[in-house]
Amino acid sequence: MKTKIVATLGPASDDPEVLSEMIQAGVDVCRLNFSHGSHDYHKKVIETIKKCESNTGSSVAILADLQGPKIRLGDFEEPSINLLPGDIITFTTHICKGTKERVYISYTSFANDVKPGETILVDDGKMAFKVLKANGVDEAILEAVNGGVLMPRKGVNLPDTLISLPSLTEKDLADLSFILDQDVHWIALSFVRSAKDIIQLREMINSHPCENKPLIVAKIEKPQAVKDIDAIIEATDAIMIARGDLGVEMPMQMVPMIQKKIIRKCQQAGKPVIVATQMMEAMIDNIRPTRAEVSDVANSVLDGADALMLSGETSVGKYPVETIAIMQRIISQIEADDSIYYTQRGHTLVQGKRFATDAVLYNAIELASTASAEAIVVVTHTGYSAFRLASHRPKAGVYVFSNNNHLLHKFKLVWGIHGFYDAAIDDAENLMRRVNTHLLNNNFIFEGQFIINILSTPAWKKGTSNTVRLGRVGELR
Ligand code: PEP
Repeated sequence: MKTKIVATLGPASDDPEVLSEMIQAGVDVCRLNFSHGSHDYHKKVIETIKKCESNTGSSVAILADLQGPKIRLGDFEEPSINLLPGDIITFTTHICKGTKERVYISYTSFANDVKPGETILVDDGKMAFKVLKANGVDEAILEAVNGGVLMPRKGVNLPDTLISLPSLTEKDLADLSFILDQDVHWIALSFVRSAKDIIQLREMINSHPCENKPLIVAKIEKPQAVKDIDAIIEATDAIMIARGDLGVEMPMQMVPMIQKKIIRKCQQAGKPVIVATQMMEAMIDNIRPTRAEVSDVANSVLDGADALMLSGETSVGKYPVETIAIMQRIISQIEADDSIYYTQRGHTLVQGKRFATDAVLYNAIELASTASAEAIVVVTHTGYSAFRLASHRPKAGVYVFSNNNHLLHKFKLVWGIHGFYDAAIDDAENLMRRVNTHLLNNNFIFEGQFIINILSTPAWKKGTSNTVRLGRVGELR
């Protein structure tokens, strides 16, 4: 399978037996959602993941998802509050038990940042309010636009407001410091507003003494992020199209085209992209997804996503293993269609910082397509060549060898990459013979098939893919 699967872990999937079954069914990346759970809980889950890796013999990457500046309501006196259209309610920044007249909002400068006429959405947009008046200090008076039941602690979205909260809250900083002491491969940042948020997070990661630095996933869920997408893609290592909040912060009908455009941009930049949220939502409670969900998964594969993400389906759903198995079947069906491969053929090659490597890989892809090669093999030190290669979406298998185990785990998020550990840096011919023999002995390739090797020559010239060789499997022996 080329398209990868990210599963959010939670009470439905944090048991070693269930998680092992999920990994065997096709999970590539485990997501820890830091909006929920204590550090002790996440530490235990990380231990479970490692145990399951050794039980199953399959490696999985860990993606830690920081909550970011998420805004919530407080607790209520009663279990819920019923509101009718036109009802007036005050949102205050002083902690209190919410009533029909007044509820707490966890955003200190709320009454200063919101302006009359702006929309406030609660609980995934189920309840909408208009701001009537804000006192600039601690209170704003709102009018309910639609009636409904307001529930405590629900998330709040302010699509019209320029939010002055920092991109990393105090909670995020504490979570980040915990995460960097664990062996985590990717860190996602929620509610990114501009490339600066990513640059700031990267500085913090780099200044931490941990040896293995996780890579960054920028979650796109705010209109400001959509506007700044080119700079964000440049600054980040990967993107997540977080359709849940994005479809609340922006008109939801805009999300499908945004998804397609961001995926295309990520492919051109050689950065992995995850499509997230409500992919198999019905499977939280049902043994089968809806046909519309099957189409959504299929279309996301056709759009060219690197990975598809499951949230509630695997964290709290009744059928975590079945959800993975069905998603895997849909992916496999779509990947049987040739139209999804070699999607960047014919694109103009941009003269970027790594032009020589980019040009070599571009031509390796041309060669793979013309020769119907079975495999493209690359040895990588930084990962750049592997990410770039995958972004061309070759039909040939992408086999990546590295002496960096942490980097190999990162590839679990990337379209099509099979990673293998190889400790030694050797001269080109020995290296090629060894990696090709490994693939042959493990039945990834067979005698007589065309295989492409991408190499740095001489072998000590780390990180410069400068040589492409087309050969037949077996001829080097
Ligand atoms: C989303 O909003 O789609 C999303 C993935 O974010 P979270 O699950 O953290 O709310």
